[in-house]
Amino acid sequence: MSAGADRLAKVRQHIAHAARAAGRDPASVTLIAVSKTHGADQVRELLDAGQRVFGENRVQEAEQKFPALKAEHPDLVLHLIGPLQTNKAREAVALFDAIESVDRERLAAMLAKEMTRAVRRPDCYIQVNTGEEPQKAGVLPAELDAFVASCRDIHKLPIVGLMCIPPVDEEPALHFALLAKMAARNGLAKISMGMSADYETAIRLGATHVRVGTALFGHRPT
Ligand SMILES: *Cc1c(COP(=O)(O)O)cnc(C)c1O
Repeated sequence: MSAGADRLAKVRQHIAHAARAAGRDPASVTLIAVSKTHGADQVRELLDAGQRVFGENRVQEAEQKFPALKAEHPDLVLHLIGPLQTNKAREAVALFDAIESVDRERLAAMLAKEMTRAVRRPDCYIQVNTGEEPQKAGVLPAELDAFVASCRDIHKLPIVGLMCIPPVDEEPALHFALLAKMAARNGLAKISMGMSADYETAIRLGATHVRVGTALFGHRPT
């Protein structure tokens, strides 16, 4: 077994265990393998082991790695999990199957325009800045409901869920619980939360998608 396959098996075991402990079906949790900074060969190792859902945080980096991998594996699903500039919306719509970082009107409008143009509609998640950190992307919790309504009613975006990245120095469970509550209130089924250090907590609190990098690929080169 490759090192990647071994790590994947372990993470999958932890996911299944956390799901069952919470009375959930392990199949209700999708593992997003976050491959940012890692090469196509490392992605292939996980593809060979059966992993199909991947996450990248930069459009340009993903454009260098994933078109070839997608050609080899048409069932590969790619999520954009990092901030998106409006001038990269066209490329993002063309390459990604899900965009998890929708967080402002101008971006929502640009994505809507590019989706119409491309006749391609990646799933959209709204990123919520649950910690209200000034430097962090995401809509503020108090502005979420109005933004969801605007994305749905004005921009007609395929909004499927919410995403958050809790502050590094706070108990993530509080943020996960808040995100789950906001998703339920807005009738959104998908909840993307939890990374290598806290995905089991996220699953306990309702995550449908966990974004795991380090635990699958090892530490990122600095
Ligand atoms: C890098 C990244 C992750 C994965 O983080 P790990 O701690 O390596 O698992 C998850 N979500 C986002 C948004 C990221 O940028």
